[in-house]
Amino acid sequence: MTPLPDRCEVVVIGGGVIGVSVAYHLAEAGIQDVVLVERKELTSGTTWHAAGLVGQLRSSINMTKLARYTSELYRGLEAETGQATGYRQCGSMSIAATAERFEELKRSASMAKVFGLEVNVLSVAEIAERYPLIQTDDLFGGIHIPSDGYANAVDITQALAKGAKGRGVRIATHTKVDEILHEGGQITGVRTDRGEIQAKYVVICGGMWSRDLASTVGVNLPLHACEHYYVLFESVEGLHPDLPVLRDYDACTYYKYDAGKLLLGAFEPSAKPWGMGGISEDFCFDEIAGDFDHFEPVLHDAMKRFPALERAGIQKFFCGPESFTPDVRYHLGEAPELKNCFVAAGLNSIGLQSAGGVGKVTAEWIRDGRPPVDLWEVDVRRNMPFQRNRRYLQSRVGESLGLLYATHYPYRQYETARGVRKAAIHDRLRAAGACHGEAYGWERPNWYAPKGVEPVYDYSYGRQNWFEHSAAEHRAVREGVALFDQSSFAKFRFEGRDTVAVLNRVCANNIDVAPGRVVYTQWLNERGGIEADLTVTRLTEHAFMIVSAAETEVRDFYWLKRHIPDDAHCVLTNVTSGIGRHLDHGPQGARSLAVVDP
Ligand SMILES: Cc1cc2nc3c(=O)[nH]c(=O)nc-3n(C[C@H](O)[C@H](O)[C@H](O)COP(=O)(O)OP(=O)(O)OC[C@H]3O[C@@H](n4cnc5c(N)ncnc54)[C@H](O)[C@@H]3O)c2cc1C
Repeated sequence: MTPLPDRCEVVVIGGGVIGVSVAYHLAEAGIQDVVLVERKELTSGTTWHAAGLVGQLRSSINMTKLARYTSELYRGLEAETGQATGYRQCGSMSIAATAERFEELKRSASMAKVFGLEVNVLSVAEIAERYPLIQTDDLFGGIHIPSDGYANAVDITQALAKGAKGRGVRIATHTKVDEILHEGGQITGVRTDRGEIQAKYVVICGGMWSRDLASTVGVNLPLHACEHYYVLFESVEGLHPDLPVLRDYDACTYYKYDAGKLLLGAFEPSAKPWGMGGISEDFCFDEIAGDFDHFEPVLHDAMKRFPALERAGIQKFFCGPESFTPDVRYHLGEAPELKNCFVAAGLNSIGLQSAGGVGKVTAEWIRDGRPPVDLWEVDVRRNMPFQRNRRYLQSRVGESLGLLYATHYPYRQYETARGVRKAAIHDRLRAAGACHGEAYGWERPNWYAPKGVEPVYDYSYGRQNWFEHSAAEHRAVREGVALFDQSSFAKFRFEGRDTVAVLNRVCANNIDVAPGRVVYTQWLNERGGIEADLTVTRLTEHAFMIVSAAETEVRDFYWLKRHIPDDAHCVLTNVTSGIGRHLDHGPQGARSLAVVDP
């Protein structure tokens, strides 16, 4: 057993592909004094059963950069470490069985050009030529990414572990973290079942265990395990290792060559949450019994697409748990609630293809004290406290899994876990024809349907059904008087003798103004970068109301909290849910009115 030191710079919790990649990249970034602790064996949580797809095209440039870096890393990992990785650059192909899907694929292909990733749009004839095993009569077209591929998740993790150890990282398996230690709002180490380690930083990479572990130190990490299914077919006629990975989004399925067999996996629209009563202490290389009836419709459609499957034998029907998040984006970065407590968890079934990039940016974030690129879309500070609610999570993650392969129409709204946060005038807005969308748990009117029109989205890639109604609203605001409900905006009360001094240090503008005045200002970091964009209203000599965007409620609250000196006489209270806010807009411009909720 690896002996545990008394102290080190960083403790990484979790020996899945994410934790091992973080450890590898910490050493690569020059921080070698790292201990990785794993409660059982490396890969024994979710990683061991990953199907092995390594794709690169994501919905934004920075997420694509992270996935591309991962592919590049895996390509060279075997040569670097001497450990086989099973990586094969066979390309990937995504097919469209509807015109709308083909539109989505073509849009992502043109976006990929901006990212510098080679993506080719394919005709139906070209699809049939590249993948003769599938039925193509109903297809509209597809896209091909030559540099995508697949790998063996266990071997990749072992190779990263070998690379990390070679750079000085200590890996302690059969060592469970029982407690994360902290003092004065800052990490001090961990207590394991084999003793204590003092550390400056802790990184929680505990996969589906991360939510409960983080909550023991007040860190909010909303994620929940879901069942994810695949089937292994043997004796599939015509199968060979260089067939591209195939994604048939409209049938919710993916296909991949797997050591002489064909792996068929699915992201069905209504998935099944798992582990509601907690996850057993003994979980180690385990699988779930699974529900064949739940998977059968997917299998049925797959046989139409892939006729050879009707004659092939099912070697294995597999169901394994993976953690999903409410917005299908993973959680990265320093937890706002606890200094030097970092997280890298909630990988939404793209953990293998994301691990390289996730490890690299997490390590650089720890080393430099700031993220190396804009990572806001996955930043843990975007999460709201209510999202730790289990009922909310169980309801949402079933939808999250399916959204991986759903058509991502503009303005698409979540269907589950709705109605969590409502303004005081919600019912009146609804009665006025509001079609609500969800933002950070808030129900916000996105557009108003006139009498006789149902306030429901009719999604499309063309002009959607709300267009004319939104134009009418816009005209009314320009030409008349309007009242905006801004209750979802973040609102903090800041009171005390030292508030002026503290705010004038944090704000870029002078907030020492007469009571009743509003100051629009930014909060800047030490490099002059913008951390927050908000208004500060002076209520009385020693009381202020800070109003910021709904999206940055948690981030802004903790930014100010961390910048209040210990000896300052200030009280900061988040009053977002207790106070409504309306903005009236007339010929003289905008005027803000704060309204206390009844
Ligand atoms: C069926 C299936 C197929 C998949 N296919 C793909 C794919 O093709 N491509 C892809 O990119 N992704 C895929 N994934 C997703 C991928 O497997 C995961 O995203 C990834 O493995 C998550 O890695 P992780 O390190 O976050 O979690 P894990 O592998 O679960 O690692 C977390 C580790 O933390 C340890 N731990 C937890 N608590 C403690 C503690 N208190 N002390 C010490 N250790 C602790 C656990 O024992 C565990 O080993 C698939 C997932 C499933 C279920």
